[in-house]
Amino acid sequence: MKTDTQLIHGHGGEDPRTGAVNVPIYQTSTFRQPELGHCLGYEYSRTGNPTREAVEKEIAVLEGGVAGFAFGSGMAAITAVLSLFKSGDRIVIGSNVYGGTFRVLDKVFNNFGITYTIADTLDLDSFEKAIADDVVAVLVESPANPLMFVTDLKAVSEIARRHGILTIVDNTFMTPYLQKPLELGADIIVHSATKYLGGHSDLVAGLVVVNDEKLAERIAFLQNATGGVLGPFDSFLLLRGIKTLGVRMDRHCSNAQYIAEYLQKSPAVSKVYYPGLESDSGYEVNSRQARAGGGMISFELAEGYDHRKFLSSTKIIALAESLGGVESLVCHPASMTHASIPKDIREKVGITDGLIRLSVGIEDKDDLVEDIEQALEASKSDRIEIS
Ligand SMILES: *Cc1c(COP(=O)(O)O)cnc(C)c1O
Repeated sequence: MKTDTQLIHGHGGEDPRTGAVNVPIYQTSTFRQPELGHCLGYEYSRTGNPTREAVEKEIAVLEGGVAGFAFGSGMAAITAVLSLFKSGDRIVIGSNVYGGTFRVLDKVFNNFGITYTIADTLDLDSFEKAIADDVVAVLVESPANPLMFVTDLKAVSEIARRHGILTIVDNTFMTPYLQKPLELGADIIVHSATKYLGGHSDLVAGLVVVNDEKLAERIAFLQNATGGVLGPFDSFLLLRGIKTLGVRMDRHCSNAQYIAEYLQKSPAVSKVYYPGLESDSGYEVNSRQARAGGGMISFELAEGYDHRKFLSSTKIIALAESLGGVESLVCHPASMTHASIPKDIREKVGITDGLIRLSVGIEDKDDLVEDIEQALEASKSDRIEIS
């Protein structure tokens, strides 16, 4: 099956009892056992639930892995994966990883003796140099939040393999519709399914996919042992969202391309970060490893434009955390998504106070450009307010 068909049918199809074309919501915590020592495949919903299993199978098929696992949030998924490691282990992380990923390493896993090194995964030599003897894994995002820096996933996976360490890719921004990191050599995929996979800003969920049976066994154990599982109703919603991933992503990408090209020409904007633009530093690598530039754009306002005014002036585009839903959202990484990263580290990696991040929705592209245009006009700092 091709991806577009997998999106609809990859989870294994209809309910065998009734023929219902949608997987039923098995809203139950426990399952009756016909006799002691025998169950009908399920015992307790933390360990396994048929609705959750359907979405787990779906994501495994889409990413081309051997098994998938669904969690109550992206952070629960990442936490389960990091629980593979033990005191004395070190993880190399890309310099633009999601703020919450940095925070859980810095403030939680650090307390258990699992440490991290921040490396520039765009520079393969400096990445390789960061792999000290105690390093057990590398965790990267591409494109990375919020500057859309593109890491060469194939090259990073190859270097990691050579050093005997695991490659973990957070594929939230691209989804398996645009990019399949396991095919590029990664070992573990994590997702915040809250974003594009769910796609409608109506649930919080996380997913893990692995390429190896042994890893699958270990993650299954950790999922059950640590317990951050996705509930049956949210599993149903996620499966429902995934069915339209292809058509949504096509529109997210074409809208984003259109808006990035508009921003690039605007005198109100000094810098645009979007890997779908030929002028972008990540364009070449991204085109090699992904189908399109995705739906996320970051940009910096030119001097004389005030980001606060811009953020309170958009009408269709909502100022909000999160991304990947059908509606366009705008955010201020320095004070919102990346506020948990100390200012000095933030500035060092390029997340300035003037940076604005746009999650381009699937509305009409000209309505979106018009909204951005009027907000840019309203954000001129020398504009005299008339009340
Ligand atoms: C949102 C996000 C996460 C965290 O996921 P939650 O579902 O919010 O817990 C992790 N990685 C990336 C890239 C994200 O955008």
